[in-house]
Amino acid sequence: MRFADIPGLTDIKQRLTRSVRDGKIAHAQLFMGREGALNLPLAIAYMTYLHCANRGESDACGECPACSKNLKYIHPDTHFVFPVSNVKGDKDDDRFRADMMKSWRTFLLEQPFGHPGDWTTSYGGEDKTAIISKDESREIVKALSLKPFESPIKVMIIWQPEAMHPSAANGILKILEEPPQNTFFLLVSNNAERLLPTILSRTQQVTVPLLADADLDAFLLSREPDKNRRGKAVADADGNLRLALTLLESEGENLHESLAGWLRLCYKLDAVKLLSLSEEFHEMDKLKQHAFLAYALKMLRETMLARAGADELLRSRDAEQQFIRNFSKVIPLPAVEEAYALLNDAAAMLERNGSAKMIFMDASLRLARSFEKHAAAVN
Ligand SMILES: [Zn+2]
Repeated sequence: MRFADIPGLTDIKQRLTRSVRDGKIAHAQLFMGREGALNLPLAIAYMTYLHCANRGESDACGECPACSKNLKYIHPDTHFVFPVSNVKGDKDDDRFRADMMKSWRTFLLEQPFGHPGDWTTSYGGEDKTAIISKDESREIVKALSLKPFESPIKVMIIWQPEAMHPSAANGILKILEEPPQNTFFLLVSNNAERLLPTILSRTQQVTVPLLADADLDAFLLSREPDKNRRGKAVADADGNLRLALTLLESEGENLHESLAGWLRLCYKLDAVKLLSLSEEFHEMDKLKQHAFLAYALKMLRETMLARAGADELLRSRDAEQQFIRNFSKVIPLPAVEEAYALLNDAAAMLERNGSAKMIFMDASLRLARSFEKHAAAVN
């Protein structure tokens, strides 16, 4: 991954490359961003730039021996730490580690913009809590105690440091504060508020925003030539590239019909149909579950805006506008607000790899109860 492979984010890219050219590189940096921010690709491009033997003003060369290894994720002086769940089976530690590293490389190559749930799914660890164990912190210290093999520097990328077991986090405090010479830590987090203050205080923070619509649109151009379809995915994704890709893929699976159907069943409190819908939801792949909830949240947000009379802020169009207007006529505002909060919780639980069926059914029943409670003004 080079900077050129990542759309937009020009300011941050410039700041990062300048710090290298000026030789002012903090020894521990935290790349933080919301779910969907491209902080992992950015940290990887930065690592590639740091190692490059022939770097240009704005990017790594992509051709020197260091680049060619880093583009395949096999550079011996680049180390990756990432959470895994308990899928070890009967393997011994070394074999397990080697297998995970192989899965990790495949994940980075095949899903360069993937998120934590994609990673868990890709190695078959779905629905389990992935963590960075205490053993892993020992491996970090061990890997960094050796001299670099090929490069003048070593880079340690820790993805989702918030998933570190507290004993693992405590195990790296010392080396994070005083790393060996020419060693750089890049921590990459989508939940920096869950990090221990002792970790936070030892890093320099780099905030990675979500993509601007224009940059996302330009990126999608090669995959979706149709301007309208692309524009719709961009509007729905709110700067989240991975979500935009999923939305384009699920195009044609009329999300707005599915959402309307679901809300109708909640409204009627049809428990039998809601249960079978929960089962269908469970069978969908993770990306689509995520896309569906993101879409539902967007539509509720739009409904709140419509209720507030802020029509000019609405990003949806045509059939969806009609849906929003109808929905906001029959469902009172407090119920829409409650529904939004409920689905936000459901999306967060899904992110943490909870059971999709349970989450969906639970959200359905809560929605049903909320609609019932606020039913006074409803047809
Ligand atoms: Zn290079």
